[in-house]
Amino acid sequence: MKEQVTTACDEAERPLSIERVAVAHLPTEWGDFKIAGYRSLTSNEEFVALFKGEMRREVPTLVRIHSQCLTGDVFGSNKCDCGPQLHQTMRMIELEGRGAIVYQQQEGRGIGILNKIRAYALQDEGADTVEANEQLGLAVDLREYKQCAEILFDLGLCQVKVISNNPLKLRALEEAGLRIVERVSIQVEPTENAENYLRTKKQKLGHLLEFEN
Ligand SMILES: [Zn+2]
Repeated sequence: MKEQVTTACDEAERPLSIERVAVAHLPTEWGDFKIAGYRSLTSNEEFVALFKGEMRREVPTLVRIHSQCLTGDVFGSNKCDCGPQLHQTMRMIELEGRGAIVYQQQEGRGIGILNKIRAYALQDEGADTVEANEQLGLAVDLREYKQCAEILFDLGLCQVKVISNNPLKLRALEEAGLRIVERVSIQVEPTENAENYLRTKKQKLGHLLEFEN
């Protein structure tokens, strides 16, 4: 018997703590998308959503919350896999013809770009990504995902196929009322530098990654 598909996402007027400011077309190297700007109603935080295709509550849709990484997304840093993950996600959405990425401007797991560079300096001395933050007296992960999830909800989504290895992001989506029908793992071929970083994320931050050995 076929399992009945429910679209139980709470459509009752859930008060959202974000607000859509504008939407525009954005043609890119990886396909034609729309870009939406959002602002938080509870802080100064701003968000960007990149999406493609019709957003329908009853259609399971590819989504990703991507956390800003200036060094990886813009400069092509080999210390992490953020840039390739972002672009691979855009390729996947282009191929599927439908999907959304929320770009969360919380650099360096929320510590900001200057602290991130301070942490990189400590990593040059041998600390791993978690130890470096601890040595700087900074939380390992300051990010909050609730409003990112609300943006997906506001775009008109309910059932989502989440491209993520981060269990905290998955939980936030569910808590915001979205229904996760699938987790799509994403793993790009890591450089040697990024591999150490990813191992630390797996061992210390519970990321769902697989390694050859
Ligand atoms: Zn990165």
